Amino acid sequence: NKTLLDIEHLSTHFFTDGGTVKAVDDVSFQVRKGEIVCIVGESGSGKSITAMSVMGLVKEPAGRVVNGQIKLEGQNLLTLTKNEKRVLRGKEIAMIFQEPMSSLNPVLPIGQQIMEPLREHLKMGKKEARERAIELIKEVGISRAEQIVDAYPHELSGGMLQRVMIAIAISCNPKLLIADEPTTALDVTIQAQILEMMRKLREESDMSILLITHDLGVVAEMADYVVVMYAGQVVEQGEVVELFENPKHPYTQGLLKSKPVLNQRQEELYSIPGQVPNPLELTESCYFHDRCEHCMDICRVRQPRLKEVGSEQKVACWLYEEEAAIHV
Ligand code: SF4
Ligand code: MG
Repeated sequence: NKTLLDIEHLSTHFFTDGGTVKAVDDVSFQVRKGEIVCIVGESGSGKSITAMSVMGLVKEPAGRVVNGQIKLEGQNLLTLTKNEKRVLRGKEIAMIFQEPMSSLNPVLPIGQQIMEPLREHLKMGKKEARERAIELIKEVGISRAEQIVDAYPHELSGGMLQRVMIAIAISCNPKLLIADEPTTALDVTIQAQILEMMRKLREESDMSILLITHDLGVVAEMADYVVVMYAGQVVEQGEVVELFENPKHPYTQGLLKSKPVLNQRQEELYSIPGQVPNPLELTESCYFHDRCEHCMDICRVRQPRLKEVGSEQKVACWLYEEEAAIHV
């Protein structure tokens, strides 16, 4: 499959009173056409900031992409003008968030909010856009679309609002849908329905999905390819089957210890003792060394690099480096 999104050596920093936070630190991965890539990690791992960097939503002076490239079909998104970025967002790349309410206008009927990108990006007339909005409402599985089109956000449930957000996101047939914890706020049944719908959308169009989650159950159900992030870095990445059957990084192994069972939600996913390191106190060590049962001397003084360990699998851990023996 052809590469759609190519992220190379992306680093995004935030500048706080306490110092610089390397929220995303030298992250590289690709999303191929029609593929679902999941970024998984605890909160503060940099997964949302990675997505925001792709969307061009990291704003100075708070933060900045300080290094790397983000290419969509070969075009570097970081060099686009403001106007080019605005066109790109919504038309080529669309994003949905955990809280649909925060992205919707409470005083506008939802139909009008679905019509907006259709009119702006696809230059549809009012009547055509309204008809398309009704179709889109049906496509995302909401019944009584003809009535719902004139409803206000507060009249809909959380699950329906997330469907509306997806309708807006897919309205212009984006090549890439970025979904940041889209089902985290929803109950299990609704979550399953929405994930199912996203899979269907991917099958019916050639859309790629970059799905951000802390929930390995969601990863198991959705992902073709998985990127595991820890403290701003990628610690492991690979095809979902390879990664679930043969996790290499002690962190991934820890995440999988409470193995998610399909369609069965678990409350306690993270059984790994300890915490993510303070982002202002990072050293040259492996960031996971405090929590790792396999920690060696070298882990405390040098950071492991991401290294290929299979055809598609990469891991950043001294356990898989022959050098480790030499440098201890
Ligand atoms: Fe553990 Fe060392 Fe691997 Fe880090 S590099 S995960 S501390 S074994
Ligand atoms: Mg987040």
